[in-house]
Amino acid sequence: MLTIALSKGRILDDTLPLLAEAGIVPTENPEKSRKLIIPTTQEDVQLLIVRATDVPTYVEHGAADIGVAGKDVLLEYGGQLYEPLDLQIAKCKLMTAGKVGAPEPKGRLRVATKFVNVAKRYYAEQGRQVEVIKLYGSMELAPLVGLADKIIDVVDTGNTLRANGLEAQELIATISSRLIVNKASMKMQHSRIQALIDTLRSAVESRHPS
Ligand code: AMP
Repeated sequence: MLTIALSKGRILDDTLPLLAEAGIVPTENPEKSRKLIIPTTQEDVQLLIVRATDVPTYVEHGAADIGVAGKDVLLEYGGQLYEPLDLQIAKCKLMTAGKVGAPEPKGRLRVATKFVNVAKRYYAEQGRQVEVIKLYGSMELAPLVGLADKIIDVVDTGNTLRANGLEAQELIATISSRLIVNKASMKMQHSRIQALIDTLRSAVESRHPS
């Protein structure tokens, strides 16, 4: 059995057409089904539906052989995973943001984010002292109510920031979703997984001719 971990939403919507080109089609709609293990038209391939931030965990521990995860999630997770293919889907930017026109704070910068590891690494590289405040959502609120000076979050159109009087400031990384593979699976099922990677690579290249 080949097990592929995916998260609902953008990643699922954009990954299913790519998997379909490899002949892998879920036998029921994962967005609608309450099932967390979804069979596919290939009886030895199944999908696991998990939280986006849990995809690397399932794959690193071998509960799934393959997964699709945003680069933002992978940067935060760290871990030992193969990342053989940029699927060029769910693109956005990981950025710092703060209140429009707010002066840089004098003392220690307070940064609210769910990307705690990314934040610590980013400011450490700049030699900047920061206090990182972990949040699980609605990061935009933090600078408005004085919880933090800045946030680090993913930005697509910037509409969410603008609607809250914030502006994107520094670019930390450009983000897209990546295919990730468990290291043992890559060895044990090499030809099968490599064939899938090759098919997906052609599907991505035909959508984004360089
Ligand atoms: P925006 O278009 O900048 O207003 O984005 C709205 C929100 O959608 C952001 O704050 C993110 O939480 C989320 N978002 C946008 N694009 C992505 C993406 N590619 N991956 C994950 N979250 C995203």
